[in-house]
Amino acid sequence: MPAVAVPRPVAAVPRMRQTWDLELNWQSEAGCRGSDANLFFSPTHLESKEERAVREIAAKAICGDCAVRKPCLEFALMTRETHGIWGGMNELERRHAVRAAVS
Ligand code: SF4
Repeated sequence: MPAVAVPRPVAAVPRMRQTWDLELNWQSEAGCRGSDANLFFSPTHLESKEERAVREIAAKAICGDCAVRKPCLEFALMTRETHGIWGGMNELERRHAVRAAVS
C-alpha cells in the first residue's frame, strides 16, 4: 500500500471537529461502499490479535485502491474518529498521527 502523507489539519483544530459543515461528497466514491462493514470495525465480541490483523489487512487493501483515501483520512483525523479503519489507518495509527502532528 503506498504511503499517504498525513494531513496536518490538527494544529488548526485542537479539539474534535464537528461535522455539520464538512464536505462529505467524497463518501459517494468510497471504495468500501458495499463492502462488509465488519472488515472496517472491530466486532462486538472479543477479537484475537491474529483475527484483528487479518481483518485490518483486508480493510487496508480496500483503502489502498480507494480514490478518496486522502479526504477519508483527513475526515477521520479532523473528527478524531475513534473507531475503525479510515483512510487506511486504524484507531491507534490515527492517534499516533494526531499526536505527531501536534508535537
Ligand atoms: S479510504 Fe478506506 S475507509 Fe476510506 S472511503 Fe476509502 S475504502 Fe472506505
